[in-house]
Amino acid sequence: MLDHSNELAAWDRDHFFHPSTHMGMHARGETPNRVIAGGEGVYITDTSGRTSLDAFAGLYCVNVGYGRKKIADAIAEQAGRLAYYHAYVGHGTEASIRLSKMIVDRAPETMSRVYFGLSGSDANETNIKLIWYANNVLGRPKKKKLISRWRGYHGSGVMTGSLTGLELFHNAFDLPRAPVLHTEAPYYFRRADRSMSEGQFSQHCADKLEELILAEGPDTVAAFIGEPVLGTGGIVPPPAGYWQKIQAVLNKYDVMLVADEVVTGFGRLGSMFGSDHYGMEPDLITIAKGLTSAYAPLSGVIVSEKLWQKLVEGSDRLGSFGHGWTYSAHPICAAAGIANLELIDELDLVRNAGETGAYLRAGLASALADHKYVGDIRGEGMLAAVEFVADKDDRVFFDAARKVGPQVAAALAERGVIGRAMPQGDILGFAPPLCLTRDEADIVVAKTVEAVKTVLG
Ligand code: PLP
Repeated sequence: MLDHSNELAAWDRDHFFHPSTHMGMHARGETPNRVIAGGEGVYITDTSGRTSLDAFAGLYCVNVGYGRKKIADAIAEQAGRLAYYHAYVGHGTEASIRLSKMIVDRAPETMSRVYFGLSGSDANETNIKLIWYANNVLGRPKKKKLISRWRGYHGSGVMTGSLTGLELFHNAFDLPRAPVLHTEAPYYFRRADRSMSEGQFSQHCADKLEELILAEGPDTVAAFIGEPVLGTGGIVPPPAGYWQKIQAVLNKYDVMLVADEVVTGFGRLGSMFGSDHYGMEPDLITIAKGLTSAYAPLSGVIVSEKLWQKLVEGSDRLGSFGHGWTYSAHPICAAAGIANLELIDELDLVRNAGETGAYLRAGLASALADHKYVGDIRGEGMLAAVEFVADKDDRVFFDAARKVGPQVAAALAERGVIGRAMPQGDILGFAPPLCLTRDEADIVVAKTVEAVKTVLG
């Protein structure tokens, strides 16, 4: 067989504009150029034949693991029978209708409808439009501001990139745009006042939110968006009591809640939804990644019955709903979603995410908690993070220029395990497929210890 790898590498450098990539370094060939060719279970293989344990499930999305024939067959069957029909003006396909029912059956019981998109970003754009539309229908034209948290990640569109609270996604893009505001991240390890207990810090976050709503005027604040567990911002579970305290403030000022469950939806926390896991009462839930385990691009907005009634009122008054994508509810993606949700049940993956995730975190903690430069080990379900600090007692962070997190992630990759250097802070993140076994978790822990020792001693 001809070796095309050099040719491919050249085409890649010259023609492929990669997302979230250092453009110059990549084009000059200064960054690793890995072409992935196959995957099975928790492992991926590149074109040079090298296999790695993918402990980040792609971008925390391949929840059922790679190589699931059931989903591949469902996609092929749907493509052969009916590759496409649109969902406008009341049209549907059996796959899109069935999947809607399966999602609502699994969602918190207050939810009743699903609007489909293709990415987490477009689903959050839909959320914003639904919120604005509903408040216009309700005769509250001033109630339009959106509050998210610093370190939240909600996508990289114009409005969703604004909701995102990470510098990297704002820099030189003229973001954030109005009417988006940011409030305190629920990041207990990084709290300014280290004397605060978790409960006190949760109260502090709720107080900050209330102050912001009052300063802006409650009649101008429409919605609050948050991930049940902060993901890209550092894999940070909320401090004790956080969501109850936040929910009370939102209820007090009639501010809607969007639970962005793009990462947490469909089992990652060891519960089907993070909203149920933490007792949140969302008006809207964003879903993507785990909906199809990324076998096909599909996202959605799950709408509460209460909000749905307002939208219906709007349609009765204003006419047809003027929002849609050509590929909304694409039948091939919906077929992938059905097979994926069935697999999650058949393989009992939600339970495994809780149990094996806890085992993974316990392994990381017993191996690394005493390390001089490990400041925090945290997570929930099949999410884990190790945060590095220059001085543990005084909680001094490393200078970002030292790139400690990226170095550890690179050392880990050299040892055949993929973790992710989270973009803000020296944080090594893990979000393995939900089918991870204990033996595989042991490998992740052992290789992480080696990588940390190599970089930090
Ligand atoms: N919301 C959350 C919580 C996410 O983690 C992501 C992506 O990682 C998104 C939204 C955006 O999803 P997408 O990259 O599919 O647009």
